[in-house]
Amino acid sequence: MQTCSLSGSTGWSIWAPKSASSAGWVGKNHYSMRRQTVARLPIGVFRQFMPLKPQNENSILSRISARFRSSRSRAAAPSVALGIGDDAALFRPKPGFETILTCDWFIEGTHFLRDRHPPDAVGWKCLARALSDIAAMGGTPRCFLLSLALPETHAGRWLNLFLGGLNRASHRFRCALAGGDTTRRREILINVAVVGEVPTGHAVLRSGAQPGDILYVSGSLGEAEFGLQLLLRSKGPTSRRSSVTRKHLYPEPRLALGQWLLKKRLVTSMMDLSDGLSSDLPRLAAASSVGARVEVAKIPRVRTSAPVLKQGRDPLQLALYGGDDYELLFTVPPGKTEFLSRTFQGAALTAIGKITGERNLLLLDEHGRPSDFVARGWDPFRKKL
Ligand SMILES: [Mg+2]
Repeated sequence: MQTCSLSGSTGWSIWAPKSASSAGWVGKNHYSMRRQTVARLPIGVFRQFMPLKPQNENSILSRISARFRSSRSRAAAPSVALGIGDDAALFRPKPGFETILTCDWFIEGTHFLRDRHPPDAVGWKCLARALSDIAAMGGTPRCFLLSLALPETHAGRWLNLFLGGLNRASHRFRCALAGGDTTRRREILINVAVVGEVPTGHAVLRSGAQPGDILYVSGSLGEAEFGLQLLLRSKGPTSRRSSVTRKHLYPEPRLALGQWLLKKRLVTSMMDLSDGLSSDLPRLAAASSVGARVEVAKIPRVRTSAPVLKQGRDPLQLALYGGDDYELLFTVPPGKTEFLSRTFQGAALTAIGKITGERNLLLLDEHGRPSDFVARGWDPFRKKL
């Protein structure tokens, strides 16, 4: 993998192939326009996203570099000893810290639709969702690598808007672009690899839950799935300001909450909710070799208006089975719950149940009647958008 550099006078030269025979950089991966490909494109796509002038890989990399050159997130990431501009980036871990590594696919047709999802939301979300895994460990993000494949039709305005959203997320979450790779492909494929840090020995794992611990979630569950459903059903363009679709399009990883819970040593286990409570809680329980009882009435869920409810979307089902919430699920020993406030930076912290030693997961209705917990959340091998 080759990386790009934002620094120094080397510019993008390192991105160029070392020789004409360098695999993947000349020939099949180049971005020059091909007339026969363009002719097959829907005219709307052509007009909307076609580059104004022919693109090649170097010009694309120059645009990425320029977009991130003045990034404040770079200044906030002294751990990146060498960023874009050489064959690889250099990361300098802080003494006393462990490095967290995580990567996340974000793929057209599986995770987003190019004709429904705004390009800047795609840019924001591909980083935000990867950062959620750093939040789940109680860590702090430092830098990320971007792997991007896209068609030449989207190497113009679409790419500019995508980079705008990605750059905003990079600033917002103080996570610098350290490098990456690009190639041409019919579909848009994005992979983000994030490097984070956590004090040595203090990362919060999924495996620490103990019988008797209280089970908490942050925020409100099902909002992102609800926003997705509305987005798929709407006919007009998507507004960035819509509060209903914001959580689906522009999720905010709970980095500050995860770091605070770690610092105060309040939690025994933690994970982020990316696939829905019904799919993610069993993973935490299995990792900790415990069971859990969840009270249905306590699950914080999306609030919808009556007309929407009549369309058959049950807020509880959205909360249990909807993905993309990027809230935190964590366990707190009963003696420490008094140190938790009801909210953290505007997000509710809600006790929804208790960890048990019985190795089964139960949902308790408002009368205390138990039913089995059925995992029916997001699964990329089972479900598409
Ligand atoms: Mg996760």
